[in-house]
Amino acid sequence: MGSASKRKSNRNMMDSQVSHNQKLGSSVCSKRGNDGQERTLSKGKKYVLVSFRDLPDHMKDNEFILGYYRANWPLKEALFSIFRWHNETLNVWTHFVGFLLFLGLAIANLMQVPQASDIFGLFSRSILTNTEMNSSNHSKSLLWISSKLPDLKHITPQKMDLSLPGMPTTRWPFYVFLGGSMFCLLSSSICHLFSCHSHKLNILFLRIDYTGITIMIITSFFPPIYYIFQCDSHWQFIYIGGITAMGVFTIVTLLSPSLSSGKYRAFRALLFCSMGFFGLVPAIHAVIVNWSNPKRDTILAYESAMALFYLTGTGFYISRIPERLKPGWFDLAGHSHQIFHVFVVLGALAHYGATLVFLDYRDRVGCEVNP
Ligand SMILES: [Zn+2]
Repeated sequence: MGSASKRKSNRNMMDSQVSHNQKLGSSVCSKRGNDGQERTLSKGKKYVLVSFRDLPDHMKDNEFILGYYRANWPLKEALFSIFRWHNETLNVWTHFVGFLLFLGLAIANLMQVPQASDIFGLFSRSILTNTEMNSSNHSKSLLWISSKLPDLKHITPQKMDLSLPGMPTTRWPFYVFLGGSMFCLLSSSICHLFSCHSHKLNILFLRIDYTGITIMIITSFFPPIYYIFQCDSHWQFIYIGGITAMGVFTIVTLLSPSLSSGKYRAFRALLFCSMGFFGLVPAIHAVIVNWSNPKRDTILAYESAMALFYLTGTGFYISRIPERLKPGWFDLAGHSHQIFHVFVVLGALAHYGATLVFLDYRDRVGCEVNP
């Protein structure tokens, strides 16, 4: 009995702490002109935003976000909540805008609008000026090789697959990466929008979200591995096969509902990171093989930026900073998951920049001068 009453008094202390912090959160939001906690939605039926302590157990994921939760909302209300302020609004929008951005890039590439697809063009050209000048002799030899090529009209489709210099190389690995990124960003938005509906849907969408992250990581490997080892297909097979196998293992592991809980946050991050670190093996191999590549520094700069963005984002995801430092202050804007989302989009964009350089290089060089 003694321990039960002690637990009760502890619980009361925690509740008063939460309600104190709740007030802090509300006062921050009132500055934004938002009362946050009470809302009347369609047809007079009342759907209220609730605090962390009022959540069903399956939704208690981050105890440092104290309020503005939607719990057990109907699908229609959840859908229209994309235009309302709650603690998932920016989680939905950060990845939805990222999805639209990648959709636009995919369309620009499919319709061959270079001004729109090469968003890093100016940046790349300014960096490349020096390396391009150094490789001008190399380019002259490429021109000579191009002039010795047979008439393009007489090249059969099989011969085109050999990736001859000056001819567009195959695009499917590039679109696999764009498709994987779009799937991840869109499934994440949908997950954040609808997982408040029910426990069943929450588990389903979390699984789809983790699958999306894994697919984005796997498909990110396709363009660099394919284009770097284009002239050495057994390495293509080993590395693409290896990362795909790791991805399938990760998806199967994460499909276990028990691993979707907050307790396994660090384990999930470790699985995703281990796939990323697997990339170091082909990356080191590629740097050794392509040491004389004039685009080496540009590619390394883009890929280092990507790694830095992803690792920084993961750091926020695991540490739950800044909300851990001031619980309740970042409920609506500025909490770790939103920052993590922004870094994911930045990382994917940096990788897109690197992929354009791979494509441009392979288009111009083919396999003839880089066996
Ligand atoms: Zn998310």
